[in-house]
Amino acid sequence: MSGTRKDGEQGGSQGVTRRHMTLSAYDNAMTQFDQAIKVLGLKPNQVAMIKDPRKVIILTLPVRMDDGRIEVFTAYRVQHSIVRGPAKGGVRYHQDVTLDEVKALALWMTMKCAVVDIPFGGGKGGIVVDPTRLSRSELENLSRRYFAALADDIGPDQDVPAPDVNTNAQVMAWFMDTYSMHFKRHLPAVVTGKPLQVGGSRGRDIATAQGVVFCLEEAADHLKMDLKGATVAIQGFGNAGANAARLLAEKGARIVAISDVTGGYQNDAGIDVEAAIAWKKEHNGLLTRFETSKKAKAMKNPMQLLELPVDILIPAALENQITGENAPRVRARVVAEAANGPCTPDADEVLNAKGTFIIPDILCNAGGVTVSYFEWVQNRVGFYWPLEQVIQELRRVMATSFHAVLDASIQYKVPMRVAAFIVAINRLTAAAELRGLYA
Ligand code: GLU
Repeated sequence: MSGTRKDGEQGGSQGVTRRHMTLSAYDNAMTQFDQAIKVLGLKPNQVAMIKDPRKVIILTLPVRMDDGRIEVFTAYRVQHSIVRGPAKGGVRYHQDVTLDEVKALALWMTMKCAVVDIPFGGGKGGIVVDPTRLSRSELENLSRRYFAALADDIGPDQDVPAPDVNTNAQVMAWFMDTYSMHFKRHLPAVVTGKPLQVGGSRGRDIATAQGVVFCLEEAADHLKMDLKGATVAIQGFGNAGANAARLLAEKGARIVAISDVTGGYQNDAGIDVEAAIAWKKEHNGLLTRFETSKKAKAMKNPMQLLELPVDILIPAALENQITGENAPRVRARVVAEAANGPCTPDADEVLNAKGTFIIPDILCNAGGVTVSYFEWVQNRVGFYWPLEQVIQELRRVMATSFHAVLDASIQYKVPMRVAAFIVAINRLTAAAELRGLYA
């Protein structure tokens, strides 16, 4: 298929390694959760109210293909939490999607929304499909069928999907149209990350990357380092990775390596980011043979990008990229997690021991869902904000959240990830206790 993989939220480097499949992302998420529970000394009843996903939906979707065949796809939607508001989180299209992964991603969404204190719970969806093998109309049929099947379980006050790996604004427009036609009224707030023409928010396209950069500015301040002249390696050149590269280059940072599913590309003098983005546009959303542009050398093994001696490493692709195995070789001073779950608990242990400053995913990449919240608000009020307002509000949310997590990290003497879970779990527990049990 053509028009979709280009703009996938964290997409772009899926397939660089299949490691993310063999480790359980949900086990990792549980380990992270349990670390924070232990520090907080929560009681079993408090944990019971917030830990497990509230609803797991497994769908079988028959879709008519262009040649007349009917192909059957497996899809998921997991609503992890509705304690602080409607479930919220993206939908991922990937051949390796598993229920385990979607459950982990849904839990991370709950934590993420709580860390940035927006009034949502957490959810995630996924379809087991390699979207590159579908035509545009097949992709539309599949997307509509998925949303129609979910119609009773989603809604502006129930569960609000958004883009994730390999889904984009066009897919969100199909989702919104399917839902609105189904219920015979205009319901744009059912989904965020829509195109501007049909109720999207200004700034949503760059929001994840912008949030990463706001976090990096706060981190640089804290660590007394300068973003200007800092060296950066970015794994994944989808929406998050490519926009982070652009925004950091604008700040004077030197992007020395980038990668996607087609390989890794390195230039110690600094990659011309605009050239890479233009190249990607011309090559169906991928960096295919970018080395032939003479703007970078091809790396022998793209996984080596993670081990380069850079100031800042930005994993912006999939889970489980930095593990106990390669973490000893990671040399970055700061790891900014634009992807969800890129570091395993084993990797954390190694990186924490050597003093790497990790900005954890549930803080670092929360800019996307934060502007999703702004979009949902704009849809419900029917009044649309200028870009400057979106960016200004996003900056405020990211800076406040960064400092809430940093303060918790100092107060409890724990790494930033545990601190982020502590901030989130405190907010969740407070809400769960105030609400109590309905029946
Ligand atoms: N998929 C993005 C994430 O992982 C955005 C979710 C949203 O906007 O709801 O945070």
